[in-house]
Amino acid sequence: MSLSPEAWEDAGTLLQPPPLPERAGPFRGLPLSSLVASLDAAHTKLAGDGSASLQQSDLPGLALALLERGGEREQLRSAADALRRSLVGDGVTFVVNRNLNTSNHCVLRCHFCAFRRDGDTPGAYRLPLQELEGRAAEAQRVGATELCLQAGLDPEAQLGGSHLAFAVDLLLRLRQAAPGIHLHAFSPQELLFIAERDGLPLDRVLVELQAAGLGSVPGTAAEVLSDPVRRLICPEKLSARAWVAVILQVHRQRLATTATLMAGHLESAADRAAHLLTLVAVQQDAHRRGLPGFSEFVLLPFVGAAAPAPLRRKVGRDQPDPAAMLALTAQCRLLLGSWFVHHQPSWVKLTLPVAAEALRWGCDDLGGTLMEEHITTMAGALGGTRQTPATLRAAAARLGRPALQRTTLYGRAETANP
Ligand code: SF4
Repeated sequence: MSLSPEAWEDAGTLLQPPPLPERAGPFRGLPLSSLVASLDAAHTKLAGDGSASLQQSDLPGLALALLERGGEREQLRSAADALRRSLVGDGVTFVVNRNLNTSNHCVLRCHFCAFRRDGDTPGAYRLPLQELEGRAAEAQRVGATELCLQAGLDPEAQLGGSHLAFAVDLLLRLRQAAPGIHLHAFSPQELLFIAERDGLPLDRVLVELQAAGLGSVPGTAAEVLSDPVRRLICPEKLSARAWVAVILQVHRQRLATTATLMAGHLESAADRAAHLLTLVAVQQDAHRRGLPGFSEFVLLPFVGAAAPAPLRRKVGRDQPDPAAMLALTAQCRLLLGSWFVHHQPSWVKLTLPVAAEALRWGCDDLGGTLMEEHITTMAGALGGTRQTPATLRAAAARLGRPALQRTTLYGRAETANP
């Protein structure tokens, strides 16, 4: 097995099950303000006692009770907005980055995915290395501080028969084309694919990628960390426990990751609670060990417009429901408490006006300029594929909030952009 036995073991402990309905019982009748205060107290207790167990706390019941009630919209919004302000202030951050979806060839068939293609089928592409180098250099010329790389699980992405050698070569080339740029690359699913295909321990893969310039890892492929849902939407993908194990190994390699939740399809409130509680447990583990952990939480609303028909029919909606996703944005902010300082909406999936509105529902970051995007756009998203620093700044300014350009890991970015 490519995963380390220790990470696998720890993942089994940290992965949280969907809370049973009775755990929410004592909290269901509480006014929202009391529920929020109880959540805050439970988070404080968990953070204060390094050995405290999340399962033995009130958090599972409180999480489920909070996620079951989306109706008190203004109260939810203002509680999340107040928590955001107390944790991070009024600034709205963004990163100038370029997204590179290097290939959409993929050996898996996730039921929500409109991006993947087989071999020579229409729409299949694999960007040549020279093209990628050119795009990296161009991005840096216009002020990008980050390249974000994600792709399908491409069976041909090999160099001398090795997927790791291909990935290392890719990072080295990009680093040479755009010296000093931050490389945010390879989802947990891609990392595991490289390790398994090459028959290597994941730790060895991470060491070599880090030496080649890997700066941090996107926490995508999490979808919903509840295996019954994964069996419905992505049965071939790594399990919830494997996702957690990969993330633990990445964190323990002293690389930060982001955290995501894909929501608005077949998942229940209990599945969402399991996912968010797992993120808290993993972040607690990182803090205990003094590791970088998760840098931000990104809510990814499901876009079904071009998704394969069976799942699309079951969900019955082609675009995210903005009202529901804004309520969930607030619930996520409240539920993740001080464990996650930075929350980001997806303007690609929601459109920029709705993502800007999410800044009033607990978010403090508008993500990246992207410059190009293929995965969600091929799923039928309406948000477009690029923003300029000016459009992101203007979105923050319309709310009377200052915009701040950041680095990938939330340092102050120094480049000047129009
Ligand atoms: S979501 Fe990723 S792993 Fe799944 S089919 Fe699409 S490209 Fe492949």
